[in-house]
Amino acid sequence: MDDEIYLKYKNLSRGNWGKDLSMLKMMYIGLLNQRKGDELTPITEMLLNYFLAIPKARKEGKKIMMHPFNYGPEIFYAMDLVPLMQETYSVGLAPLRLNEPFLDLANKIGYGDNPTVCNAQRPLIGSYMQGVAPIPDLLFFLSTPCNSLAMTYQVFEQLASIPSFNIDIPYWTYDKAGEFNDDKVIDYMINQSKELISWLEQKTNQKLKFEKFQETMVKVNQARQYILEFNELLKTVPCPVNSQAGMGNFLSMVGYGGTDDAVKSTKWLRDSAAKNVKNGIAGVPDEKIRIAWPYTHIFFDGDLLTWLEETFQAVVIMDLLGFYQVLPHDVSTPEKCFESLAKGTLDFSMIGTCRGPIEYYIEFLINYVKDYKIDCVIMPMQFACKHAYLMARVSSEAVREETGVPVYIFGCDPYDSREVTSEAIRGGISDFITQVVL
Ligand code: SF4
Repeated sequence: MDDEIYLKYKNLSRGNWGKDLSMLKMMYIGLLNQRKGDELTPITEMLLNYFLAIPKARKEGKKIMMHPFNYGPEIFYAMDLVPLMQETYSVGLAPLRLNEPFLDLANKIGYGDNPTVCNAQRPLIGSYMQGVAPIPDLLFFLSTPCNSLAMTYQVFEQLASIPSFNIDIPYWTYDKAGEFNDDKVIDYMINQSKELISWLEQKTNQKLKFEKFQETMVKVNQARQYILEFNELLKTVPCPVNSQAGMGNFLSMVGYGGTDDAVKSTKWLRDSAAKNVKNGIAGVPDEKIRIAWPYTHIFFDGDLLTWLEETFQAVVIMDLLGFYQVLPHDVSTPEKCFESLAKGTLDFSMIGTCRGPIEYYIEFLINYVKDYKIDCVIMPMQFACKHAYLMARVSSEAVREETGVPVYIFGCDPYDSREVTSEAIRGGISDFITQVVL
């Protein structure tokens, strides 16, 4: 970004954000400085504005709605709330290793440990005890993808006395042709969405206007259409984008789903991929290996995928979050808008694959390997993520049997650099690629 834009964003962050937003401010400044030398893409712009929206909401007296990383914020935008995806904070601290003192503090006060409660959320509790965790006006969470997340959100709710609403995610699918269909699933979700809206109306003293709801749903579905096209383009060999690109779609939908910002950033990603396909440009020059990464990133090691690209000319097609799979829907009537909201929640990144029988995840992974012409699967795994931990081995056997593609599963804590170090992770991946894949 040029100096003028950098200074503009720097000036926008000036002033006192409040003690509970002090870490968020530090993260904003870190992000701004990290991207200073890069081109200002719609994704960077979106991320910077996302941080700035929080102190701005405080100033303008708007309510801040905290929610987890597995729920799109469209209904919150439709009700003029300012969403804050909690893990922007508790996971966003990890690349800077600023989460680790808070993990130690959580240990000290006896709030879980890594095998029992996930470190993706635990910094929230440690930092709350020091008065630097962001305090929202309202809190929302789901029963999936894990009991660990739901537990930490409940503890936070009680400690900080924040009004909270949560919804239950059913196990079964709405796919009538599928083995696991239950015709009640969509109605069950719609009823809960309506209860959420009533609760929000009561807490905000305002009514949801249908026109605004529909406008939001049109935008969220426009962005879904762009992502669908982007995902198709990534089947091209060589892959037209680098290993981090898919994450931009996830961040757009979890941060800005239902807004013009998400439409703009997903379109930009789709257009960039399409242009590269047309011109035969690879995201990783001389691409040699295509990797499926069906779990989250190693968040404390932001350079890991770049290292893979530079060392092995290997591209990670998408991670589990970046592989956003919600399809676009018709939203021409109020009923269809509610149905689209329900399906969007059921199919959201990580929810669609992790909310029911293991077959959902196995089917996803086998299709991923076949459709994207994958050479190998690499899967970090941590014991706190109990559902994924259980699925990893069975899924890897299914992939080997059905496709013959090798799978490497390795243990680590993606949020704590001290459990398994970057060096050990890279050593294991190197051995797998050189001895098994190549
Ligand atoms: S990594 Fe697993 S345990 Fe941790 S928040 Fe995500 S789904 Fe839950």
